[in-house]
Amino acid sequence: MSKPTELFLASGNPHKIEELQQILKPLGIHLKSTLDFPDAPEVEEDQPDLQGNALKKARFWFEKTGLPSIADDTGLEVEALGGAPGVYSARYAGENVTYQQNVDKLLRELGNEENRKAQFRTVIAYLTDDDEYVFEGVCKGQILTEQRGEKGFGYDPVFQPTGYDKTFAELDSEEKNKISHRGKALEKFLQFLKTD
Ligand code: IMP
Repeated sequence: MSKPTELFLASGNPHKIEELQQILKPLGIHLKSTLDFPDAPEVEEDQPDLQGNALKKARFWFEKTGLPSIADDTGLEVEALGGAPGVYSARYAGENVTYQQNVDKLLRELGNEENRKAQFRTVIAYLTDDDEYVFEGVCKGQILTEQRGEKGFGYDPVFQPTGYDKTFAELDSEEKNKISHRGKALEKFLQFLKTD
């Protein structure tokens, strides 16, 4: 398989689109996204796991555009909660809730639990004419009892990666990207593109 000149990212998130476009530019790859298809329906993330959701989105857009397509799904997996919120991370406290409501629920559910071990996991699915591929990135850490930091998003203010005394919300995005679940999955995908 030769390296594509155009890729489709199944996301309308301007931060994700910009980040990936910057990374792909030196490889001579132009990125398209769901922003180029404003009338397309939202793909429902109703699969039982991250890989299922990522593949579902990538398949939908591959069929629609004919372009090699990538999609990702991320979850926060907390050991003492049996892996929750996991695939439900975006809607842990309910549909259409804020990041803060999800964080509040997480801290409530964990209460005084001493085992605060957790990990973020990202799965990237990549579909081409030839095959389907998945790339996974994991970042291990722990859930603090209180929020710290203003940067980032989601569960960042309560997640402290292993080996750091700062939460994700206290790290600059560059620092976070180097060690994050999404950064690692993306790195694997890029290695694949470069060596393929
Ligand atoms: P998505 O699959 O990237 O949309 O992520 C699903 C949910 O996981 C988001 O709504 C956030 O709550 C959470 N999440 C994903 N990535 C991160 C991160 O890097 N930091 C904190 N929370 C995240």
